[in-house]
Amino acid sequence: MNILLIGSGGREHALAWSLAKSPVLNELFVAPGNAGIEQFAKCIALDLTDHRSVIEFCRLHDINFVVIGPEAPLVDGLSDSLTHAGLRVFGPSSAAAQLEGSKGFTKDMCARANVPTAAYGRFDNAEAAKTYIREQGAPIVVKADGLAAGKGVIIAMNEQEALDAVDSCFDGAFGDAGAEVVVEEFLEGEEASFFVLSDGVNALPLATAQDHKRAFDGDEGPNTGGMGAYSPAPVMTEEMMDRVMKEIIHPTIADMKAQGCPFKGVLYAGLMITKDGPKLIEYNVRFGDPECQVLMMRLKTDLLPILLGCAEGTLDLVDAEWHSDPAITVVMAAKGYPGSYEKLTEIKGLVEAAADPDVEIFHAGTVVADEKLLSNGGRVLNITARAATVSQARAKAYAAIEKIDWPEGFYRKDIGWRAVEREQQG
Ligand code: AMP
Repeated sequence: MNILLIGSGGREHALAWSLAKSPVLNELFVAPGNAGIEQFAKCIALDLTDHRSVIEFCRLHDINFVVIGPEAPLVDGLSDSLTHAGLRVFGPSSAAAQLEGSKGFTKDMCARANVPTAAYGRFDNAEAAKTYIREQGAPIVVKADGLAAGKGVIIAMNEQEALDAVDSCFDGAFGDAGAEVVVEEFLEGEEASFFVLSDGVNALPLATAQDHKRAFDGDEGPNTGGMGAYSPAPVMTEEMMDRVMKEIIHPTIADMKAQGCPFKGVLYAGLMITKDGPKLIEYNVRFGDPECQVLMMRLKTDLLPILLGCAEGTLDLVDAEWHSDPAITVVMAAKGYPGSYEKLTEIKGLVEAAADPDVEIFHAGTVVADEKLLSNGGRVLNITARAATVSQARAKAYAAIEKIDWPEGFYRKDIGWRAVEREQQG
């Protein structure tokens, strides 16, 4: 089987690494890929907004299956175009991708399907949003409706902050994403990510993870795309997973089908485990980055038939087995990220760092020039390890980082602290 994987991040390196182990795979193409992926797959440049050229490439190279990693091409309808052209695709239609593309769409789905979530209001003008905020009081959360690269959420600890957030949304701080805002109740509890596959009807729970969004140790500093993650999330017990499947996932899948936009792909539920039970914070319609890296590190079974089951509506016939050992990933980013940073700085020592068989280094923003490995983005490397405990996996990841010579990079030194504390408490 020939596969085209779309994307260039650490998530796609981890997916490519898993797919490459499949005995069913013939050739793996990745568009655009990165320097890590290039070591074992064919990286190609494709204009992903030009769906015809993607279809043409698939025809020319006998591609039997296209796996879409990131959200932007999904919301943009790449999955629809490929499906209409008769290709098998992993990744939801643009209508179903609204679960990530519009927070208002998801909130309305929750209301219809009785999915537990924060109480909310949807507004297309500032005055109405402000009246609602004054009625509800703080703390309260203001969200730009659309895709804002993880930046459109303002947790307001007082009323004035919330009112200012509404103004900045409608003043265009988040571009088109802020043309509508969702104002919602502030939830208290522990967060967890839960990944489930669906073929539109059936649901296959995968695994759980926790990530670290803030740039610096102690969960300080600005929000980022994610500075590290570990799996499983200890807060997600078997019982909690069953509850989430019953109260959140199954009602969502049934509602999407009833609305005429069945969800086929990976549903990534951002959850808050509150004292009243699990509540949905948000859905993403693709694997998390860097959560995917720890998931792939723990997956025992062949990934390919599982993803194919999603596309073909046969998810009830496949199963996913997991290593019970936890995995952790630590992101190395360019100094200055998530603000401005230097690109094309040299990175050395990766071979030595990856010598431990329990360590995998997934690349994100990297490129090779003149036989040198150079940084090529904000988040650059994902140092990933699996071991009997989170503490041990973390020690392996940080031991590997010690061997990496990249003065222009930085990383958090406390990834997995919650899980490590739990382990220490026994
Ligand atoms: P989102 O982009 O919706 O996932 O929001 C980003 C982050 O904001 C989440 O991971 C939470 O940490 C936080 N957040 C979002 N909504 C709420 C809420 N209603 N209550 C408390 N925290 C929230």
